[in-house]
Amino acid sequence: MNLKPFNTLGLPARAQELIEIKSLEQLKKLSSTLTNKPRVILGEGSNVVVHSPIDAPILINRLKGKTLAADGLVTAAAGENWHELVIWSLNQGFGGLENLALIPGSVGAAPVQNIGAYGVELKDLLIDLSAWDFSTHSEVTFTREDCGFGYRDSIFKNQSIQGSWDCPRYMITSVRFGLKPVGTYEPNISYRDLSEKLKTLDQKPTPMDVAQAVMDIRSQKLPNPKQIGNVGSFFKNPVISSVQAKNLAVLYPDLPHYPIESNQDDTCKIPAAWLIEKCGFKGVRRGDVGVHEKHALVLVNYGDGTGREIVSLAQEIQASVVARFGIFLEPEPVFMPALSG
Ligand code: NAP
Repeated sequence: MNLKPFNTLGLPARAQELIEIKSLEQLKKLSSTLTNKPRVILGEGSNVVVHSPIDAPILINRLKGKTLAADGLVTAAAGENWHELVIWSLNQGFGGLENLALIPGSVGAAPVQNIGAYGVELKDLLIDLSAWDFSTHSEVTFTREDCGFGYRDSIFKNQSIQGSWDCPRYMITSVRFGLKPVGTYEPNISYRDLSEKLKTLDQKPTPMDVAQAVMDIRSQKLPNPKQIGNVGSFFKNPVISSVQAKNLAVLYPDLPHYPIESNQDDTCKIPAAWLIEKCGFKGVRRGDVGVHEKHALVLVNYGDGTGREIVSLAQEIQASVVARFGIFLEPEPVFMPALSG
């Protein structure tokens, strides 16, 4: 079985077996047969780099269904498409997720890395989630606090809780969000690209206007994974001390930096795309993979690229950014198999 159609980078890799999970009953039956055995969980494959054969069954989350209560409580099964959920909830008259429009992937994958865009993070709206626990063979609930959300991070990325990539303890089955009726709040348009895009409107932007603006900006800047394989941002924006940022700003006066929300440690965030571009990687090509010409944070597969080529390009970029700025870029996607060292 070739995984190429099952990951948005379009990387080829052999997998032992694919099992589509369509119901909790099916998961329950399967769970006992997989105790202590290797298994890999996949949603829409929009945040993974497969680079070698995978000797484990791949469980694809196809759990479906979404409901909305009168008070704005939305429950969505993990196999639902994220963007469709955003637009569906807006069409029902409830907002909050608009800044997260057009992010590729499934609902179940969204909490794993606490997806975020244009000043809104998933954790801002999430109430709780349900997950299948492969060690107790039952469904458990995690409140927002239990999820340990951080910048593009959650406990589901923490190996000491979730286990290894090929023997994960939890599979997210559904997520609940608390949304607000459209018209009762002002959407967040603090990011410059967004406010610029919306300034031509002659009335205050509605959440649907914001979603449309986000879709327009993303479609202009980011390659569509259906046309050119990619996983969106390949690296997290690094967080460095304000002292290090000040020192770097002496050498690079145009260094962009943004304060961190709960800034108790006096740190700031530097756009990874800026660092990569300064190192000359924007638009470079290595074989059939490369760095997108419009966005230096997006690594792409032009068609016949391999996972090994992507890994090698990512490592070349990391080495170059460390050498020039002394900053380590941490990848956002999950490597399958995990990279050692
Ligand atoms: P951008 O607007 O060119 O800004 C570059 C970076 O600077 C962003 O990554 C953003 O950090 C940060 N930034 C910009 N304005 C900021 C502000 N007012 N306050 C705090 N931080 C600010 O970024 P872009 O690449 O076009 O992306 C726009 C948004 O979409 C960003 O939020 C980005 O994270 C999100 N996005 C996510 C993915 C993904 O795959 N995860 C892919 C593309 C874009 P933050 O990233 O922390 O917001």
